[in-house]
Amino acid sequence: MAKIQMKNAIAELDGDEMTRVLWAVIKEKLIAPFVDLKAEYFDLGLKARDDSDDRITYEAARAIKRLGVGVKCATITSNAARMEEYKLKALTPSPNGIIRAELDGTVFRKPIPVKNIKATVSCWEKPLVLGRHAYGDVYKNCEIAVDGPGKAELVFTRADGTEVRKTIMEMKGPGVIQGIHNLDASIRSFARACFLYGLSEHVDVWFATKDTISKTYDGRFKEIFQQTFDAEFKDRFEKAGVEYFYTLIDDAVARVMQSKGGFLWACKNYDGDVMSDMVASASGSLAMMTSVLVSPDGVFEYEAAHGTVQRHYYKYLKGEKTSTNPVALIFAWTGALAKRAELDGTPELAAFAQRVERETLALIESGAMTGDLAKLASPKATEILDSWQFIDRIAERVAAGA
Ligand code: NAP
Ligand code: MG
Repeated sequence: MAKIQMKNAIAELDGDEMTRVLWAVIKEKLIAPFVDLKAEYFDLGLKARDDSDDRITYEAARAIKRLGVGVKCATITSNAARMEEYKLKALTPSPNGIIRAELDGTVFRKPIPVKNIKATVSCWEKPLVLGRHAYGDVYKNCEIAVDGPGKAELVFTRADGTEVRKTIMEMKGPGVIQGIHNLDASIRSFARACFLYGLSEHVDVWFATKDTISKTYDGRFKEIFQQTFDAEFKDRFEKAGVEYFYTLIDDAVARVMQSKGGFLWACKNYDGDVMSDMVASASGSLAMMTSVLVSPDGVFEYEAAHGTVQRHYYKYLKGEKTSTNPVALIFAWTGALAKRAELDGTPELAAFAQRVERETLALIESGAMTGDLAKLASPKATEILDSWQFIDRIAERVAAGA
């Protein structure tokens, strides 16, 4: 059988630990036999990032921008323990943080529903989609640990040299200080991306901040969302029969837990980090969720929402075949290939991506799945597969239907 040809390449960003192991298996078993893959490869494994002083991460981000589509494996964000484990030169910043800051934009995370896994929040009838702002706030912070009494100030020096200065705290003893920022342009493109998503998917859009406490910072988010909505989307939303709803973040959390789902929940960067894991695990598993970064200039980066699954990797290193769920990694690949197909006008590639997704879900719905899902499945799983068996079985189904 002739392999499917690609017109243009995608940027491929390899990662760490268990997800790196599965990445190679997915490429070998699910992609290479069917598609003549065109990809520019970047090794974002922790050692390679450290060796290159993160040059590789910036190169990869630029390649995603140039090619328009990227697919990324999960990567380790280094900390003191990793520094020791990997004998690093320095603590490297989060690669996701770097890439998101380079691309700007919004991360959309959507649960992957299967019939035999019910959401643990029983009132959620439809998938709840999360839109996470991917720029700034605590992810691009500046911190100081102070060793004794002193005055902490917030200073802004304008381009013309004049200053705005405010006292944060007269500190009576040691403590910590943090400075964060965001940009109107980034908030506006976040708002626009969320409203466009609402229109294209025909769902309501919810947004929440803590503007009662953070009147200036969070207040700005609220204001820009409302301005953007009134200026560009009000009429279109009315026509489409969908709504924009703003509330406080704590109220939003309470309402989400009693909702039927089926809307887009727009979250600031940190809220989105925390809430997307809650939504994912309440919808079944962290591995049953798609994640895509959409930049304001129409660049797409597909990834898994979970981490490198370190605990499983250590078992793998001892020779165990783990039952790590590769669905989010598979869907990162199919998402990227489908977007490439859409941009290039290659329907064969689009059909292939769809087929892989369909066969992955059909396999799970037939009762064969990885251990994490077997704990939740109803009716009970008929077979619990390790990751290698699971991927082989999908490949067999795809080949049979090809
Ligand atoms: P994690 O990799 O998300 O795994 C946490 C736990 O969730 C696992 O131990 C496992 O539970 C379960 N799990 C996650 N993904 C799974 C899958 N595909 N199949 C089955 N179970 C799954 O988080 P972590 O272990 O806290 O973090 C490991 C590394 O990932 C860290 O170095 C962190 O920096 C990095 N990280 C990267 C990203 C990213 O690149 N996008 C995101 C988050 C974290 P059980 O052990 O109970 O089976
Ligand atoms: Mg996270």
